[in-house]
Amino acid sequence: MPQPTTYKRVLLKVSGEALMGRRDYGLDTETVAAIAADIGDVVALGVQVSLVIGGGNIFRGVSAAASGMDRAQADYMGMLATVMNALGMQAALEKIGVPTRVQSAIPMSSVCEPYIRRRAIRHMEKGRVVIFAAGTGNPFFTTDTAAALRAAEMQCDALLKGTQVDGVYSADPRKVPEAERFEQLTYLDVLTRDLAVMDASAISLSRENALPIIVFNIRAPGAFAQVMRGEGRFTTIF
Ligand code: UDP
Repeated sequence: MPQPTTYKRVLLKVSGEALMGRRDYGLDTETVAAIAADIGDVVALGVQVSLVIGGGNIFRGVSAAASGMDRAQADYMGMLATVMNALGMQAALEKIGVPTRVQSAIPMSSVCEPYIRRRAIRHMEKGRVVIFAAGTGNPFFTTDTAAALRAAEMQCDALLKGTQVDGVYSADPRKVPEAERFEQLTYLDVLTRDLAVMDASAISLSRENALPIIVFNIRAPGAFAQVMRGEGRFTTIF
């Protein structure tokens, strides 16, 4: 029998790449719809859900900077890419009847709400999904750090990181078949072993705020709700 969830409020971080499906860049509508359906299932469990979506499927500041663009300028372009993804996810969620608000760290009042912490909490209390767009609003940061920051501000019970594999491995299991899979790790394990989960500032921020990180496969249909019920495969970092 499925377990009821003990989570009251969570933040899910989805990378831009997770929205590409089999495409080389951009948004794959079927993939976005599948993730939206999973989010809808979790909302139906009574969990308050917020999201941070990356922008790597559209633009990554660091790679543009490598080809000669000013890093800060490139990072602002990356943040704008996350707003496009947030609007795409909002459309997919509202299509299946899940009320959603987008709040951007870079104010753009005719497109979405500005980020207001207390307002975001209120939205979630009313059962709305809140998507935090434009990362932290600052260049030289990542959406992983934005996810840890917003999860701490929202006093979430956990930060969920939806990846392409079912947890944290000692190496990329798609390239190294003998890679070891971990059930549990400490924040320090991740930092000292330099495991590719989230960047170091996101891990440190989570550690300082005793925010558990749960890593699971966002590509597996229904995995988000399963994880919320303590079922399925995932790695917990605490
Ligand atoms: N970005 C930024 N500040 C932030 C968050 C993101 O400058 O607080 C920029 C940065 O250029 C980054 C891009 O937005 O490369 C997209 O975010 P990220 O690479 O984290 O997306 P993901 O890898 O999760 O798709």
